[in-house]
Amino acid sequence: MQDKRKFYINGQWIDPSTPSDLEVVNPSIDESFAVISLADTKDTNEAVEAAKKAFILWSKTSKDEKITLLKRLHEIYESRWDDMSKAISMEMGAPIDLASEQQTSTGSNHIKTFIKTLEKFEFENNYDEKSNNHIAYEPIGVCALITPWNWPINQITLKVTPALAAGCTMILKPSEIAPLSGMLFAEMIHEAGFPPGVFNLVNGDGAGVGTQLSGHPDVDMVSFTGSTRAGRLITKNSADTIKRVCLELGGKGANIVFSDADENAVRRGVSRVFNNSGQSCNAPTRMLVEKSIYERAVKEAIDQANKTKVDLASRKGNHIGPVVSKAQFDKIQNLIQSGIDEGATLVAGGPHRPDGLDKGYFVKPTIFTDVKTNMKIVNEEIFGPVISLLSFETEEEAISISNDTTYGLTNYIQTQDNDKAKRISKKLRSGMVEINGNAFSKGTPFGGYKQSGNGREGGTWGLEEYLEVKAISGWNL
Ligand code: NAD
Repeated sequence: MQDKRKFYINGQWIDPSTPSDLEVVNPSIDESFAVISLADTKDTNEAVEAAKKAFILWSKTSKDEKITLLKRLHEIYESRWDDMSKAISMEMGAPIDLASEQQTSTGSNHIKTFIKTLEKFEFENNYDEKSNNHIAYEPIGVCALITPWNWPINQITLKVTPALAAGCTMILKPSEIAPLSGMLFAEMIHEAGFPPGVFNLVNGDGAGVGTQLSGHPDVDMVSFTGSTRAGRLITKNSADTIKRVCLELGGKGANIVFSDADENAVRRGVSRVFNNSGQSCNAPTRMLVEKSIYERAVKEAIDQANKTKVDLASRKGNHIGPVVSKAQFDKIQNLIQSGIDEGATLVAGGPHRPDGLDKGYFVKPTIFTDVKTNMKIVNEEIFGPVISLLSFETEEEAISISNDTTYGLTNYIQTQDNDKAKRISKKLRSGMVEINGNAFSKGTPFGGYKQSGNGREGGTWGLEEYLEVKAISGWNL
């Protein structure tokens, strides 16, 4: 059992003021392998106090010094790549190759991209010469960074790196379900030599540390990624102290497949949902298929689901692992059952574990057809390897179904008609639209419309979230 009870506060690993153990479970085998401690108010206050003190100097640190430290952090991150991949794989069940090639790699890319963004970013400029006005971008202050378990280091580096680059100080509260990647990252920050108090880490749950941070009078901003439920609670609890609250929440992406889509469109869309065992906020879980190719699409989707292997996270290869926890497993099983009960047709997968996997939180890659827009499975974020197929007849109908959700994170379009794709992309109410499987470039803004959130992470947009804007008149005497 790994002992990970300490918190990183003011440049040191310290014991919790009141021990409160929580075991970290390997979801492939349903066994604990590490123990953390849940912080109490005293620990949280110490971390905030350390960040508040460190802000005085760090907020004035030069761009060059920050770049030097971030580059050192990046080198250390690369040198501990395998440790990071193992930590992620063990704590949240990503198969080891996926953990390395998709999860650990995102952390490296975000650090690298934010270094480039910082190099180019002008923290001061003249609004216009004639008016003699001056604009300064200044760090907002002490930030609480609250992150989830599904892409743990992706979300940590998407928040910590721009916060550091902006000159903010911070308290990271990683997910209590998958805290080890965050703790390893804290070791890297320490080794890179960031001044004490700039970065602090306290473990805890939402009701404890999460709530203490969002209500703390000395915290200026909360950046949160996770469920819409928690996003709502954080927003309310931050209201009394008028914090900036940046939210990256759930999604229920539509993938509109037209009859002129490329031949891999359906299989690509299905794999996209199953990747990371369906635990991605931007997964295109509603596949809308043009009626004329619906029957073919169903056959291809079933075939793709049946080809998707499910296995232990420790095994190498191209398969999906378990979902993160018993709570998630139970939630997904209940939603699959609701699909059956509400009359959708189950054509692949279904309830219970896949054959041969009697332990762990494994879910069968599942496909429903004949799904109606009022069913739970098409409205709720399932966060498991479950996809719903619906058909449409006209472009307008496809847009209307796509937008008929409280979410608005990413939508997808598959067609060879470029004009049609462009036209529709502008009518979809989401922060991102992916056309024909083209990947987003590094540093493009990631975030949602509606109840998918209100912030944008990545690149200049991600850096500006951590900055205040100051207007100064009479700059030159
Ligand atoms: P969650 O939102 O409860 O937890 C995410 C993080 O928020 C964790 O660090 C947690 O400790 C913290 N948190 C929870 N409640 C909080 C509160 N009131 N104040 C401050 N912090 C709080 O997510 P979960 O319960 O682990 O998963 C539930 C559902 O959330 C999933 O089924 C999925 O739909 C969704 N989810 C979405 C994302 C995403 O990337 N959009 C990520 C994780 C989970």
